[in-house]
Amino acid sequence: MPERRFIRRVSGTVVGLVFVGAAALAQKIPAPEEVLGFKVGADYHLASYQQAYKYFKRLEQATPMVKVVEMGKTSMGRPMIYTVITSPANMAKLDRYREIVRSLSLVKGLTDEQARALAAEGKAVVYIDGGLHAGECAPAQHNIQLAYDLVTGNDPATRAVRDNVILILVFANPDGMDLMAEWYHPNVGTPYEISPMPWAPNKYVGGDVNRDSFMGNMIETQYLNRIVNEEWFPHIVYNHHQTAPFPARIWIHPASEPTNPNVHPLLTRWQNLLGTSMGAAFDRAGQDGAISRTVFDTWYPGYVTQVVDAHNVISLLTETALYEYATPHFYTVDDFPEEYRDFTVSVFYPSPWKGGWWRLRDAVDYCLTASKAVLQTAANYRQELLWDKYQMGRDTMARFKKEPPYAFIVPGEQWDPPTAAELLTRVEKLGIEVYKADKAFVSDGISYPAGTWVIPMSQPFALFLKVLFEEQRYPDLLKYPEAWQGLVAPQKFKDAYLPTYDMAGWTLPYQMGVRAVAANTPLDVPLTPLDRVSAPAGKVEGIGPSYVLSPKTNNSFIAINRVLKQGGEVYRSREPVTVGSDTYPPGAFIVSKGLSASAAETLARDLSLIVTATTKPAPAKSLKLKAPRVALYRAWSENADEGWTRWLLERFEFPYTTVQNPEMRAGELNRNFDVLVIPSMSVNSIVNGHKPGTIPPQYAGGIGDAGVRNVKRFVESGGTLVLLNDASLLAVEKLGLPVADVLKDLRPQRSHWEGPGEAKPVEFACPGSVLRMQFDVKHPVAFGMPEEAPAMFIDSPAFRLNPAFDGGRAPEVIAKYPGGSLLMSGYLKGEQHLQNAVSAAEVPLGKGRVILLGFGVEQRGQPHGTFKLLFNALYYGAANPTLFP
Ligand SMILES: [Zn+2]
Repeated sequence: MPERRFIRRVSGTVVGLVFVGAAALAQKIPAPEEVLGFKVGADYHLASYQQAYKYFKRLEQATPMVKVVEMGKTSMGRPMIYTVITSPANMAKLDRYREIVRSLSLVKGLTDEQARALAAEGKAVVYIDGGLHAGECAPAQHNIQLAYDLVTGNDPATRAVRDNVILILVFANPDGMDLMAEWYHPNVGTPYEISPMPWAPNKYVGGDVNRDSFMGNMIETQYLNRIVNEEWFPHIVYNHHQTAPFPARIWIHPASEPTNPNVHPLLTRWQNLLGTSMGAAFDRAGQDGAISRTVFDTWYPGYVTQVVDAHNVISLLTETALYEYATPHFYTVDDFPEEYRDFTVSVFYPSPWKGGWWRLRDAVDYCLTASKAVLQTAANYRQELLWDKYQMGRDTMARFKKEPPYAFIVPGEQWDPPTAAELLTRVEKLGIEVYKADKAFVSDGISYPAGTWVIPMSQPFALFLKVLFEEQRYPDLLKYPEAWQGLVAPQKFKDAYLPTYDMAGWTLPYQMGVRAVAANTPLDVPLTPLDRVSAPAGKVEGIGPSYVLSPKTNNSFIAINRVLKQGGEVYRSREPVTVGSDTYPPGAFIVSKGLSASAAETLARDLSLIVTATTKPAPAKSLKLKAPRVALYRAWSENADEGWTRWLLERFEFPYTTVQNPEMRAGELNRNFDVLVIPSMSVNSIVNGHKPGTIPPQYAGGIGDAGVRNVKRFVESGGTLVLLNDASLLAVEKLGLPVADVLKDLRPQRSHWEGPGEAKPVEFACPGSVLRMQFDVKHPVAFGMPEEAPAMFIDSPAFRLNPAFDGGRAPEVIAKYPGGSLLMSGYLKGEQHLQNAVSAAEVPLGKGRVILLGFGVEQRGQPHGTFKLLFNALYYGAANPTLFP
């Protein structure tokens, strides 16, 4: 039949052309080894970010399928890039495809019919990143090979990916990729080849780059959020990691329980489908050992993955197996835990790994199989993905027109108004639309004035707001064990609980000390959308040469730091201060010298502060401040809390000096410092550090006994030691202070790695939750706090204060847990152990004092509501009590 022959000939020609075209292109496209000097994943070789950057720039020159986009600089000054990979035809229409996915994502103004047409026309957008946790080396290396394979592959599957998918390929932590390569290579072939790097693989917070996503404190997090919520609105976000539960070779979805209830059910279905398609790809390729439904859950929204779920973006996590860096390792079955030695086959682990060599290249290959499975599945289900994203947004908008909460209301009247604006700015950055009420209105019986901030829930990412703003009720997995499909059933202990992988509760308005109210009935008030949330305007009121600033406002601390830096004279009143019609609580700042009228205006304007000028002198009972000379201890290990503390001090303009083990061991700390801050870490890591022989000698050991003696001497000679969260136990265990840890022996092991079958019976459990706390607001460390406020409990200690031993000054309570109703958000078992226990205290020692802040005062830079406890402690440590006649 001539017609049929004709068709066959044409299609044959077309295929031939494509093949010749791609092959011709492939000749110009450099293989990774031509730029790196070694094959991706070669033993003992890690490509640095600089090399990867160079390679992607070469790819961009060599093919129209690759476009490198530079977003700005990282914390340490490297260029932050992402790479777009798709067919030349798609690349030519990139803006159109981006507009399609954006419209479908934002829903507004589309009919179902229009959405269907767009879904038919558009392309699937898939974000894949590697290297977020830089110590997990394979994923970043895999990016290089993945790009090369995608632009050179001529098989039908790869072509389908290029035609149907726009890949956004991201190096999530450029600084870390370079730091790892720089640390590892000199150690290869030495006894320290697999020693841990003794600092974080980024400027500040180490592994917590994957806990920062809803807050967006780190600049790298801001870039990743920008790609997702402002630039590309991807259908899938796939975030690679490398900590598989041994001996499995990779962890894939479906996830463990619990799952966050605030996601559209289609989202979870897609996660399961994509995880299963990865699993099939592994078995097809003969790559054994993919495991699911254990260890990793999707409860906490601070991960790079879970932050996107409530934005109707399908998040995927994988955890490939890691030995160390690029060093190969041979495993025998004797290395396996007992339950894996007979290779039992199970529904979520159907092809057990049996041991053998594990090289960096093996891990890279697993990452490649997983990424390609996601891309191919996205190509196959292109239209469904585009439509479902629209439907998830559409359904969410419809849902909250019919059920509460109908909106969240953020009144202008706040304890710390600029911080309320800060909260709204953060959610706005993540795609939430904030409005102002045009008129006064009443909601659930409460009146609000015109200008009140309102966030209506009839928006496509409303579930994200619900995740952040509502109280978390961590599910009791033991109440209905059958409901969890066997995951929890075989409990060994009737009072065990299933711990979450990370936090159980995080309610952001609570953490930030901001009042946000859910509207449980529909609102009837006209609203105007805000282009940008702005803090209430600051101003200077009254007249006089002195200025009063509120201790309630976090920004006041920035203002005071600037004044102190200029040599100004500042007092803090121990009593309430009344100026005109305003009364300030204890701790009010009085700037009596060194601040001109115009400088006061500038501070008020820049920091949204109400500054009150007065002719009154500083009150009789005051503390005279001076710029505190702060030492911040840093161990030879990655410590996220140290990074967060450092970051926070910089953000609020507190000068500080990092001190390490040599200075701690040498002593003489009083000569240079008023305050020594030890961030949250175990007593063992402070005192003993790394065992000698496990790391190059200069990084071995901790502060040692000499360091402990010096710390004690520093305090006895008048210094102030501030111990954060876990580090508080140093006071109990090493400094011999009259303080007991009431949770000693009650603290459960964090046992998510052991699985529920191994869960321990626990009398007390409180994985990261928001608890109610009471403050003595007349104590200089609690100045400016409400008498009762939410605070973060993070595997924290709790104290009982004993009388001083030798009739000296008795310890003082700064904060404690109330006698009941402690839990505000998250999970708490065994509340009676915390009732009335002390959470923060001042313990005198010699001429100085130890300030115990035994909870997450600055945890991950989130609890703005308790930051000021740390700031107050720094000022207090350098202040002189003054009694004016
Ligand atoms: Zn990781």
